[in-house]
Amino acid sequence: MKSAMKLPSVLILVADTEYAELKEHKAEGIPMTTSCCPGFVNMLKIHFPDQYEKNKSTTLSPMMALAKKLKHDHPDHGIVFIGPCVAKKQEAMEETTAVDYVLTFEELVALFAAKGIVPSQVVVDNPGDYPSNFGRDFAHSGGVAAAVAEACRERGDEPFTFYAANGASECKKQLMLMKFGKFNSNILEGMCCEGGCVAGPGTIQDANTAKGRMAKENKETDQKTINESLELFKVKDFDIHIQK
Ligand code: SF4
Repeated sequence: MKSAMKLPSVLILVADTEYAELKEHKAEGIPMTTSCCPGFVNMLKIHFPDQYEKNKSTTLSPMMALAKKLKHDHPDHGIVFIGPCVAKKQEAMEETTAVDYVLTFEELVALFAAKGIVPSQVVVDNPGDYPSNFGRDFAHSGGVAAAVAEACRERGDEPFTFYAANGASECKKQLMLMKFGKFNSNILEGMCCEGGCVAGPGTIQDANTAKGRMAKENKETDQKTINESLELFKVKDFDIHIQK
């Protein structure tokens, strides 16, 4: 099996692009919301239309950004996103999408079982290099904001303030505060699943176990900065703003 472009390399680009956008919001004194969770973005769009117009990030979500890059590099290939999220099935139908299909981990496991495929026995000829852990940690509540903060630190800019809303009720509460001008941080990270995507509805591993495993794996990968990852995976100048 050939190695594929790794999702965390584009997550790093999402963090970097979102930080550039945050700087503009901050200069205007307008808080910004993150784009990575389609459940959160839909809550914003449907229940807080004014905040959707005023506060939303126009950076593509990680899934949409990665699909755009893959379609750009391999226009004759189909794109399948595999993850823990059912909301991404709806997101993949938006008009700006480059995603052809979305599967959850549960669905993939069922396919493997049906076809008799044992993933641990599949040989990957070129595992490739590894991107920054800041990309891998997008899957946890607070991980997106931490990656955007790292992009800020690497540019030598003044730190900003953020709030990570963990779960749908917390997202709603913070958006309500934003609506009434009471949200006091520069950026609101919204994740509809409590704990983040590691606790998404289509996962096959308990969230705490996944978190522990990822923390262990992060120690084994080197500590690349966001800038090093952007250079390594040649994604630095790829445009991932939402365009209609
Ligand atoms: S937090 Fe849940 S709803 Fe949001 S992107 Fe992750 S898995 Fe999907």
